[in-house]
Amino acid sequence: MITDIAVGDVYRMRRQHPCGGWEWTVYRVGADIGIECRTCHRRVMLDRRRFESRARNRIMRAEDP
Ligand SMILES: [Zn+2]
Repeated sequence: MITDIAVGDVYRMRRQHPCGGWEWTVYRVGADIGIECRTCHRRVMLDRRRFESRARNRIMRAEDP
């Protein structure tokens, strides 16, 4: 389980987006996780469980303010 999801984190997903992209940036963290494709900028909301099952690994950490 991923407990420290933060806005600005970048994740590589297990499946390729139809646009060809693999990497997604977290733009919202709450009951649902909002992610934006880094290639086509399409936004998707997923509940935490679904997000965790689709994410493979975090490739970039949100920068500290
Ligand atoms: Zn995309």
